[in-house]
Amino acid sequence: MRDPLVERMRGFGTTIFAEMSALAVATGAINLGQGFPDEDGPAGVLERAVEAVRGGGNQYPPGIGVPELRQAVAEQRLARYGQAYDPDTEVLVTVGATEAIASAVLALTEPGDEVIAFEPFYDSYAATVALAGARIVPVTLRPEAGRFTFDPAELRAAVTPRTRIVLVNSPHNPCGTVFTGEELRAVAEVCVEHGLTAVTDEVYEYLTFDDAVHLPLAAFPGMRERTVAISSAGKTFSVTGWKTGWICAPEPYIRAVRTVKQFLTYVGAAPWQLAAAHGLRHELAWVEGLRGALQAKRDRLSAGLESAGFTVHRPQGTYFVQADVSPLGHRDGAELARALPALAGVVCIPTQVFYADPARGRRYVRFAFCKRDEVIDEAVERLRGGL
Ligand SMILES: *Cc1c(COP(=O)(O)O)cnc(C)c1O
Repeated sequence: MRDPLVERMRGFGTTIFAEMSALAVATGAINLGQGFPDEDGPAGVLERAVEAVRGGGNQYPPGIGVPELRQAVAEQRLARYGQAYDPDTEVLVTVGATEAIASAVLALTEPGDEVIAFEPFYDSYAATVALAGARIVPVTLRPEAGRFTFDPAELRAAVTPRTRIVLVNSPHNPCGTVFTGEELRAVAEVCVEHGLTAVTDEVYEYLTFDDAVHLPLAAFPGMRERTVAISSAGKTFSVTGWKTGWICAPEPYIRAVRTVKQFLTYVGAAPWQLAAAHGLRHELAWVEGLRGALQAKRDRLSAGLESAGFTVHRPQGTYFVQADVSPLGHRDGAELARALPALAGVVCIPTQVFYADPARGRRYVRFAFCKRDEVIDEAVERLRGGL
């Protein structure tokens, strides 16, 4: 049978996560590929979800999201970043950050338009841009003084008359970079100068380490009115299966994105929205504990990977370490990642799949450290023995 899949989605067949997770199951390897925590979120958040289900909160919520969550999000943006949003017109609840990004790209680009994104990029970006019939234009993050960063001249050079959106993920998956004020100012200047919309993926906004501070791009001069800011409960409260996210943006953007969103999913599930609102209002101390625990896990896995022979770029945030396989005598991270379950009983993700041209990311693999210490230690022991 002829492949019924539309042309523009070919090449997005199976995600690398499905492939590598299947490999982990088939070989019994420790899965440090996909980034989901192996411990539950705060009890109060889980309880609130149960209460919502038992209390009859099980019918369609309002299309824009339950008022409790929109208010909690507006309060959080104001308290944490000094950014005021009207919860009734400037906040939209979505089915995770993934739907927020997809609805924003679909709502704001015409076929043939261009979306600039910092590569390597989260796997949904390229697929979503392709779905919209738009074109993704990469600006590459490269290691410099121990962290991945970009050249502002390359960002400027990437802008064309067809550019509509700059998609900014900070803290960045998989590089672990938290953009500095200087880097964000460079992005803001380009957006303002060329009249571009910024779509920001801030799902790791709380998960930053050492002295790295997450700054919202919308707070930079000229950016409040042109930024679609996206976050989600999944990473903040270790509930990645809940798929509850949100957008903060000026009203015309919310109206545009909502026009698309209502025909993708209409609304997100109601109980998780109430639980996420509870989390933002009452569980940020728990999140601070998670942040500290993840920082220690980052150090634990980074030191272990270094002792196994990888070059590690210590992340400033997120769940992930980007590791360079070349000191181990390997040239191709994908080859090593596919061999690793048999060699050492560990699964990682070859990061080259997150580059527009895989050659630019050939040497990198990504390991997740959002796992129990015993799991990290066992993985490190296996890597030290197997490589
Ligand atoms: C996990 C993740 C998402 C997805 O968030 P959901 O709320 O689960 O849709 C989006 N962007 C990045 C960078 C992520 O790591």
